[in-house]
Formats: sequence, structure tokens, C-alpha cells
Amino acid sequence: MPEPPDTLSKVLALAKRRGFFWPSCEIYGGVAGFYDYGPLGAQLKASVEGLWRSYYVAGEGFAELSAPAISPEAVFRASGHLEKFSDLMAECGKCGEAFRADHLLRELAPGEEPPASVETMAAALRRAGARCPKCGGDLSEPFAFNLMFRTNIGPGTRRPGYLRPETAQAMFLDFGLLYRHFREKLPFGAVQIGRGFRNEIAPRQGIIRLREFNMAEAEVFVDPERKARHPRFSEVAGMRLRLVPGEGPEGDLSLGEAVSRGTMAHESIAYFVGLTARFLVEAGVDPARLRFRQHAQDEMAHYAADCWDAETLLSFGWTEVVGVADRTCYDLEAHMRASGQDLRAFARYETPVTVERTVVAPVHAVLGPRFKKDARAVARALEALEAGAVEGRDSVEVEADGRKLKVEKDCFTVKKTTETSSGRWFTPHVIEPSYGIDRIIYSVLEHAYSETKKEGEDYFVLRLRPMMAPIQVAVFPLLNKDELVAVADDINRRLGEAGFRTHSEAADSIGRRYARMDEVGAPFCVTVDFDTLKDGTVTVRDRDTTRQVRLALAEVAGAVGELIEGTRRID
Ligand code: AMP
Repeated sequence: MPEPPDTLSKVLALAKRRGFFWPSCEIYGGVAGFYDYGPLGAQLKASVEGLWRSYYVAGEGFAELSAPAISPEAVFRASGHLEKFSDLMAECGKCGEAFRADHLLRELAPGEEPPASVETMAAALRRAGARCPKCGGDLSEPFAFNLMFRTNIGPGTRRPGYLRPETAQAMFLDFGLLYRHFREKLPFGAVQIGRGFRNEIAPRQGIIRLREFNMAEAEVFVDPERKARHPRFSEVAGMRLRLVPGEGPEGDLSLGEAVSRGTMAHESIAYFVGLTARFLVEAGVDPARLRFRQHAQDEMAHYAADCWDAETLLSFGWTEVVGVADRTCYDLEAHMRASGQDLRAFARYETPVTVERTVVAPVHAVLGPRFKKDARAVARALEALEAGAVEGRDSVEVEADGRKLKVEKDCFTVKKTTETSSGRWFTPHVIEPSYGIDRIIYSVLEHAYSETKKEGEDYFVLRLRPMMAPIQVAVFPLLNKDELVAVADDINRRLGEAGFRTHSEAADSIGRRYARMDEVGAPFCVTVDFDTLKDGTVTVRDRDTTRQVRLALAEVAGAVGELIEGTRRID
């Protein structure tokens, strides 16, 4: 059911012609991987982001942050991006063109899954006889190319900074503040909508692979002992989705079945897969062209233990639009290690728990004279030992201040203690739904796109969902006559005040104006004609059926509202 392959160029042409989006800096020849959203595209983007906020901020109760796009090197050294956030590339020795190694291999050996390591990739490219696809020249050995944009913070080069490759890191760095904001109770989530920057080797397919793109990310902090269950899982358990697990056959499964059969590891990841499916369909993705694919082990980002991608079927194949990852405690632990700050949470028991423990107790009266200045370090090392490790031994070896020391058995005893604990400290795990807004926008446009012929000419209709359409209702005077234009302007203003996204124009035949509205996806048009002046009625036209109905002026705003919400139809 994918669209024909040339749909991409047709949608890109429509997007440019009608003001959805176009390549940036075109008057200077453009630069790959950067796009501008025009008047209609910026509105569509605002609608997608608004819908996302209604799910994640209003619906889930998560807190929205807005953090800078540039961070110092320490952040990305700790997060692992400096070392690991790279793609393998190869350069042509003759023409200098750079290529992604996995793209080269996919072209030459379509069935083969591109390997992840430099050595195996080098061998695979050699086996496939890879040469420069542009000029046939020799290619370099593949090497890792870091995708982050580097800059300098302040004058000089002493403080390198990087443009964030994901918005997520700020939510980890701010964990302590967020934890207090949420009154030290898990689970909670923080979200951010903003730009991500990746110096992609091969930007392509319009807004699908950009170097500066729009992300909406949620970091959901959970207690690892409780992540198997999600309090709202029952709301999505019955949803049937097309699943492509890392192992085992692809098929339609309810999320409830997916968890109980072990296809999905736990309810927390499954819940956000369900929420993502609901969101994408509400935004306008065709449910028949949506699936969720689990990452293979070697495909996973360096921070993820499990990841399910929402993929939409586009004219050039299945494309990742959202990643739902289980990042475990990777990021918080990494930032704790590097910053020395405590980023843990505390789970209070309902009633304090008393536990009896057998511990190693240093005998200070013996340790002091024997170990002198090292006595304190030896005592600490002894306390850290398990009782089982010393029982029945004449001596033990401990490490104190980097030195190994032999400690005789008269220096310690083993005794029973009771400790009362009011809770436990732990590093939260993170479930991360990460949405690529641009890819969602493109998917919505391609799935809404249809073309036919009308009177021998190409005719395009964008069947955008009325809640998402940049223009929800257009108001036209049938002819460009003052008395009709005045009434149309008045209706247009009233509909705008009622909160609808409106548009009005008077030039051209009404047929051409309807065609333009079909092409930008405006679901309804209201037309003022000479009968309006006599009987106070207007025509309301439905984009998808082209049916029309006459309504009294007083009814129009209410009827348009119901049409947009889908509670009324034009029969
Ligand atoms: P990731 O952190 O790689 O899982 O990316 C999160 C989401 O951002 C993906 O699901 C994509 O939708 C989107 N994305 C990633 N890279 C790009 C890019 N270069 N251009 C546009 N969108 C992207």
C-alpha cells in the first residue's frame, strides 16, 4: 500500500508551492539538511506540537522544560555522546565525497544487515567491492564520524561546547530539581520540545533526515522495581498493533498479549508504545501504514537496553518517526559518576523495616597501635567486608589508601546488629518516548496526499484531519464584488474570533479557489453568494466528499465547530 516512489518529489513540490516547507538559504544555493517551515508548515508544526502537549503535559501530567541548545563538553563526555554518537563513513579518495558506510552496503548487498563495528564494516565493504558511487574512485577505510556539531563557548577555544543531539540530557542534569518539584515521588516525567542537531553524513528525503530538526521528548523516571507495571496500562492493553520484534515473527498483537507473552519487556514501555500509536493516528498517520519495530541489539543507541520504534510506511519505505527506549539508569549513573552529585531517589516503606545483619566490626583498641595512621582506613575497609568473607579466617587482606595490608583476626570480630530502615535509595530508570516532529509532519502529509485528474489536469487533495489542518475553514465571496466581500470578511472575522484557523481570498474563479484549498488540506469552505444577501444563507463545502449544504448565517460558527470536531457531517 505504499505510495509510488515519485510521491516524495510530488509532496516536496506541493510543500514548497503552497508554503509548507522549503530548503533553507535557497538564494545562496541552499545547504543540505536544513529546511524552513513556511506559513502553513509552521502552523501544522504548531498543531502537531500542541497535540503532543495535550498528550504528554495535560494527559500524563509531565513537566515541560526549556533548556539551552548548547552544553559544555563535560555533559557529552559523561553521557557517552562524545565517544559513541557516531556513524561509520567512508570518503572517496578521488572526488572527496563522503558516504555513510551502511548506505553503501545497503545499495550493494540489499539483504545484508550492515554491521556496527569498524572492522566488520571494512570487511563487508571489501566483500561487496564498494567503490565511490559518484565517480567510481577508491574509498577510504570506514571510520567513525561523530555527529555532534562542535563550537566554542566564549572567545578562544578553551571551552568547547556542543549543540545538543537530543533534548534529553537537560532532563537528566536537572533530575534533582525535578525530583523536588514532584515532591520526591516517582514516577514522574519531564518533557521538552526543541531543536536537536546532528551533523548527518547524508541528509536526504526532504525533512526526513535533517541536520537541525525538531524533537519532542519525554523522560519518564520510574522505580526499577516497579517498572513491570504501569498504572494506566489497562487503557492501552486492548490496542492491536503491528509489531516487529527483534526475535520471532512479525504480526498483529494486542499490547496486553505483547506483555504477557514477553514480546515486550514490561508494561511501562508498552504503555508508551500505545500512547504513541494513538497520538500518531490522531495526528493523521494512516493506521494501516504504522508498525512498531524492536531494535536489534547492535542497532541500539549506546544508552538503551530496549527500544521500539514507531515506523510509518512512506513512498521510500518504512521510516522511524518515534523511538520508545528503556534507557535504564544509564544516564543518571553516568552523570552521578562524572559530576559527583547524588541523582538517586528514595522509596519510603509503608512501615519501617527492621533487619538483622551479621557485620564485621573492627577492634579499634588493637587497630590503632598496630596500623597507626592507616588505622582509620583499615577500619573502613573491614566494615565494608561481608561477614562470610572473614569468618573462620586467621587473617584477611584489605586495601587501604591504595595499599594491600594483612590484618590479623584479633583486629576484628563478627557480630549481629539490627538496623531499622525507613526506605531504600535507588537510581531511577528512564523510559523515553522520543518523537521526531519533522518526520511526523512528513508522514502526515504523505498519508493525507492524493492525486486525481480533473478536466485533464492533475488535481491534488490533502486529506489532513480537520483538527490539524493549518487552514480549517476558508470563507469566499463567490465573486470579487464589494457587497459579497463585506459579508465574507465579517464571517471570516467571526470564525477567527471563535478560535478557528481561517483564510479568505476573493480573486480567481471559485473552482480554482476550492482547488487551492483542497491542495492545502482545508477541510471546509464557506461561500457567500447573491442568495446570501437575500435569505442570509451560505454554502458550506466538504473537501473530502465535495458535498455542499446551505446553512443560515447564524448557524455557521456552530456548524463549522461540529464539522471540525467530527460530530456533524454534510450529507
Ligand atoms: P533518536 O534519538 O535517534 O531515537 O531520534 C529520535 C527521533 O528523532 C527519531 O525517531 C526521528 O524521528 C527523529 N530524528 C532523528 N534523527 C533525525 C534527523 N537527522 N532528522 C530528522 N529527524 C530525526
